[in-house]
Amino acid sequence: MPDDSTATAPAASEAASDAAGTVLERADALAAHSEEPGRLTRRFATPALARAGDLVLGWMRDAGMTAGRDAIGNVAGRWAPPGLPAGAPTLLLGSHLDTVRDAGRYDGALGVLVALAVVEGVRRRSGGPPFAIEVLGFADEEGVRYGTAYLGSSVVAGTFDRSALDRRDADGIAMADAIAASGGDQAAFDAARRDPADLLGYVEVHIEQGPVLEAEDLPVGVVTGIAGQTRCEVVFAGVAGHAGTVPMALRRDALAGAAEWIGAVEARGRAVDGLVATVGEATVAPGASNVIPGRVALSLDVRHLDDAVREAAVAELRARAEEIVAARGLGAAFTEVQATPAVACSPGLTRALEAAVDDTGVRVARLPSGAGHDAAVMARICDVAMLFVRCAGGVSHNPAEAVAAADVAVAIDVVRRLVDTLARAR
Ligand SMILES: [Zn+2]
Repeated sequence: MPDDSTATAPAASEAASDAAGTVLERADALAAHSEEPGRLTRRFATPALARAGDLVLGWMRDAGMTAGRDAIGNVAGRWAPPGLPAGAPTLLLGSHLDTVRDAGRYDGALGVLVALAVVEGVRRRSGGPPFAIEVLGFADEEGVRYGTAYLGSSVVAGTFDRSALDRRDADGIAMADAIAASGGDQAAFDAARRDPADLLGYVEVHIEQGPVLEAEDLPVGVVTGIAGQTRCEVVFAGVAGHAGTVPMALRRDALAGAAEWIGAVEARGRAVDGLVATVGEATVAPGASNVIPGRVALSLDVRHLDDAVREAAVAELRARAEEIVAARGLGAAFTEVQATPAVACSPGLTRALEAAVDDTGVRVARLPSGAGHDAAVMARICDVAMLFVRCAGGVSHNPAEAVAAADVAVAIDVVRRLVDTLARAR
């Protein structure tokens, strides 16, 4: 991003600016570890992920942390101030180290590297906090290899679904075999679960993956929660026919009905604050320029922070589809494929994060996350809070993903201040 001298973001501390430079260099170093030449792809339990994890483990040890991998291959580093009493709690910071195919270098990695920078800053000062800090780099959040997201955090949270171990990747390799081959141990998953009683909370820094912070001219924003999501498959059935010989009044055009409904989906999304509704896939059959469409299959993706709002929107769109097909003499099949409830960030920890943002002189913006994150899983065992960092153009899951060093410096400052606030509160 061009650096705008009129920007509202104040300068971060000099220490944080130096640390941000290191974070960006490390993100470049991690991006060199890929399964594919010329582009960044780092899936679960692959040698590329292992090499990236080794780099992070090295940086952790250099920072005076006790570091290693857990049973599913999550990278974890622990730092405790000298003299910390036994039984003191632990603050977890982190994000994920796996990527999508042809990924950017900041989705996930940024949160791990900012967490590391926070520890490097805190340990240099005398009088550490009355708690330990652990940095986690989860082994799978994106779910690219096995179609099941959050494998890493689900082991830490004790919510891992063992039936997933039988799933096979595109090469036919079972997840259980991939875990064993990468040095993991599925028999030790239960022991890797963290005890909620030991945890102060989990704080995740992540690129926004959307354009809101850029539009607001803000370096960071506080996440209110992770939106719930419903995915549906909707089929409109009509009658295929000759585009030249069937008069308009006698047609049953599946695509014309589907198009009317897509307009209703967009209108519903626009009408409700915070609601997003998307038709992202459309398959038209037979699919020829001179044939009236006989069948259209659509996807529907609806998200909102309030589950009742999302469910009401899905119900209304289903009713609307039925009205449209009735009026046009078509048939419709509406199938709910998946529904995931929303996860609210924890009020207390989020208020502390907001105060830390305010302390750095940045206006506090609150925004929901439309994308899923490890924090949604970690919320099962501890308080969670999330900080978004502005990303250029809101672009992610794309090699063009970019963040500004100045924004990363603000994020480091904010989380260091949060650690101080939590220390004073104990
Ligand atoms: Zn991510």
